[in-house]
Amino acid sequence: MYAEIIIDITHEKLDRIFEYKVPEELEGTLAVGSSVLVPFGNGDKVRTGFIIGFSEKSSFDPAKIKEIRGKAPKSIRIEENLVALAAWMKEHYGGTMIQALKTVWPVKKQERPKEKRIIRRTVTEEEGREWLALFQRKNQKARARLLEALLENEELDYGWILRKLGLTASVVRALEEMQILTVDTETVWRNPVKASEESQKQIEYTTEQKEAIRIFKEDFQRGNPGTYLLYGVTGSGKTEVYMEMIRSVVQSGRQAIVLIPEIALTYQTVMRFVRVFGNRVSIMNSRLSAGERYDQMMRAKNGEIDVMIGPRSALFTPFEHLGLIVIDEEHETTYKSEQVPRYHARETAIERARIEGAGVVLGSATPSLEAFEGCRRGQYRLLRLTQRVKKQKMAEVSVIDMRKELQKGNRSILSDCLREKIEDRLKRREQVMLFLNRRGFAGFLSCRSCGYVVKCPHCDVSLSWHRGGRMVCHYCGYEEPMIHTCPSCGSPHIGAFKAGTQQVEDLIRKEFPEAKVLRMDLDTTRGKESYETILSSFADQEADILIGTQMIVKGHDFPNVTLVGVLAADLSLYISDYRAAERTFALLCQAAGRAGRGDLPGEAVIQSYNPEHYSIQAAARQDYEAFFAEEMKFRTLMGYPPAAHLMAVLMTSEDEALLNKGAYYLKLFAGRIRTDAGLEIIGPASPAIGKVKDQYRKVLYLKHEDYRVLTEAKDKMEQYIEINEGFQNIRIQFDFDPVQT
Ligand code: ADP
Ligand code: ZN
Ligand code: ZN
Repeated sequence: MYAEIIIDITHEKLDRIFEYKVPEELEGTLAVGSSVLVPFGNGDKVRTGFIIGFSEKSSFDPAKIKEIRGKAPKSIRIEENLVALAAWMKEHYGGTMIQALKTVWPVKKQERPKEKRIIRRTVTEEEGREWLALFQRKNQKARARLLEALLENEELDYGWILRKLGLTASVVRALEEMQILTVDTETVWRNPVKASEESQKQIEYTTEQKEAIRIFKEDFQRGNPGTYLLYGVTGSGKTEVYMEMIRSVVQSGRQAIVLIPEIALTYQTVMRFVRVFGNRVSIMNSRLSAGERYDQMMRAKNGEIDVMIGPRSALFTPFEHLGLIVIDEEHETTYKSEQVPRYHARETAIERARIEGAGVVLGSATPSLEAFEGCRRGQYRLLRLTQRVKKQKMAEVSVIDMRKELQKGNRSILSDCLREKIEDRLKRREQVMLFLNRRGFAGFLSCRSCGYVVKCPHCDVSLSWHRGGRMVCHYCGYEEPMIHTCPSCGSPHIGAFKAGTQQVEDLIRKEFPEAKVLRMDLDTTRGKESYETILSSFADQEADILIGTQMIVKGHDFPNVTLVGVLAADLSLYISDYRAAERTFALLCQAAGRAGRGDLPGEAVIQSYNPEHYSIQAAARQDYEAFFAEEMKFRTLMGYPPAAHLMAVLMTSEDEALLNKGAYYLKLFAGRIRTDAGLEIIGPASPAIGKVKDQYRKVLYLKHEDYRVLTEAKDKMEQYIEINEGFQNIRIQFDFDPVQT
């Protein structure tokens, strides 16, 4: 018997399967996913490796094959299904197999479990009474006290009862020798979820909720659940639908994973699940200790929980019979990993579900183009919730043309309209949120008189201002000298847009000195707790106005907020990223959705220098489908995902000259890969940040309709890189359908 093993070394050249003989004494104790110690390299150095398969015959001379030394100490086996998923991830996203295996099994080593000692009575009550009488007669008070407690409770916590009764260990030992009790040591898994006393209130599902639940249940019971997009505005009852679907999955003995962006994974959300599933729910997040994370994995593995809630990495929870994966807010950019393998949780969830016969439910108020296009192509099933449960109206949205403000002589970042509305809310003691869309602050150039933005003639994304007076495209490297008058209207008011939350705060304090103002951005939320602190003090109405970046448009409900102002809505339109319009649309819809959650009607004011843009117009009407139609036209025309696929080849090196040369040759090579297939090659260009920590960066883009043509190109490029010495000091990573965060 031979085992196929991946060695635990991250090195491209060693990214292959090594064969080892399974010694007889280990046969039957090893499985796919087990980690073992093997001799490797010169001098028989011992390394850890993961078994990914077995074979009866070896493809080498059996006499030369080395033997597995033994199981790796303290190791935890990776589920076979997750090993299969890792293989898919490596193929689909690049990177080495060991990187993929470590991604699907994020717990590196066994953590010392917490233990608890329990005293158990082993005699009957009657026998116990006889012993008690004996102790009392002999005036053995300590023994009598312990036995009395044991007659009341058959099981006692060792440490607790000794402290409570003031006993020593010798008393316990004496009774143990008389076989009156036993002391057992048990592992207690740390549980980060506090139980809830409250129970779930009964609700009557709406017709739309019932329909969504019915469709999923029918497919699930038939044994072929697919992928569903649950598309409904915030407050339309999506979470209730997830919980009902999960309930049916759990009732049939299977488990569910719920992915929620970390920022939205609040106490309130977790409690809603705890009220329904009690202590069979667990969470994963970055605030848990290594020990707690380990324990959650073990609880899942041991069948002690049914529902795991967490961000991206919770996708790899080792459940035995996974039945459903829910991805809430599926359009969020945090579902794409920034580390190799650069996987997308949505695609990876769908693959895991395929392997395990589970279903996937994607939920969003502003679905990703990928998800909605998947429905249009018939790959996913669309489930709609068109109304808010409590029948609240959507906020009324007005779009303010900031160019007209300039014409009127108003040079402030607040339009007259927004200023009046803020005053009005302050008088009525209602709350206001001011959202500064700062995502795009990558130095794009725009005209404040007419809204014109300088774009790349080849890629249709905005050019970025670089030091030295050049404007550069981050996709193809195109550049031109900086301009000082607007090519569209001739105005001299063209330049890089600048406005920070601090500036907005100063302005607001000056204009509304009587208002209490809170600000939330990266600077004010450094500490772990401060994020929650700021939000809850605003929820408790300790301030009138909350100013912030994208952070404030997520999570938390603020029923007293009746006005949301979006300053410079178009900022995120001009990041040099093909997803800019999609991001802007989602952000504006979320921002508008913040107003009017309670009983009071809400209103939103969107300020823009480019109010005609379809993403702003569609967001003002909360019309996702109109946005989708326009945006798909752009993606199709330019060959961007999901109309086609894009593979970024990221190259980094300390040596700029070497990097430029490498990028040049890699492009030449890429050009020869599939001349028949129409593989488009763009760049090399400098990414948004051209140099990080003294490492220079270049990026090359390959575009094609067929994903497999790109993975094939990746494989060929990897081989080319491996045999060419020139790439030795260049780090190369692949990123499929990249997402900027
Ligand atoms: P979403 O996840 O789409 O934002 P939720 O599921 O959180 O929506 O629902 C919003 C609120 O409405 C929650 O308080 C929820 O308990 C409540 N809710 C959802 N469905 C119903 C229903 N059918 N009847 C009454 N209340 C409901
Ligand atoms: Zn202009
Ligand atoms: Zn370009």
